[in-house]
Amino acid sequence: MNATTTHQHSNCLRCGRALRSPKSVATGYGPTCTRKVKAAAKAEVVSQYKAHLVAKAEELIEQGGIIALRGHRVFQVVASNGIDTYKAAPQGCTCAAGLKGKHVCYHRIAAHILSLAA
Ligand SMILES: [Zn+2]
Ligand SMILES: [Zn+2]
Repeated sequence: MNATTTHQHSNCLRCGRALRSPKSVATGYGPTCTRKVKAAAKAEVVSQYKAHLVAKAEELIEQGGIIALRGHRVFQVVASNGIDTYKAAPQGCTCAAGLKGKHVCYHRIAAHILSLAA
């Protein structure tokens, strides 16, 4: 990607403090506020899904059962049998439940949570 319209921030968009690190200047948030903004975004995502599925998604992430492919947009999930793999993204998943598309599987939730952390 080319930096066509790189916006520079001199103060934090959340608390107004002066920003120093190049990363903060680019994102518009200081390190503490970045964490808070991400936590808020995650809480919002998580609130869209059923709690027991979110718990499974977080367990999957903790166990390293989901890894990022292609710039944190698509993720590879290792199935509970440890052999099969699925491709998951916040919008879809190639597991049996995901292909039926009736319910959001926890792979998609895990992908969604991880995509925020990117
Ligand atoms: Zn701040
Ligand atoms: Zn799935």
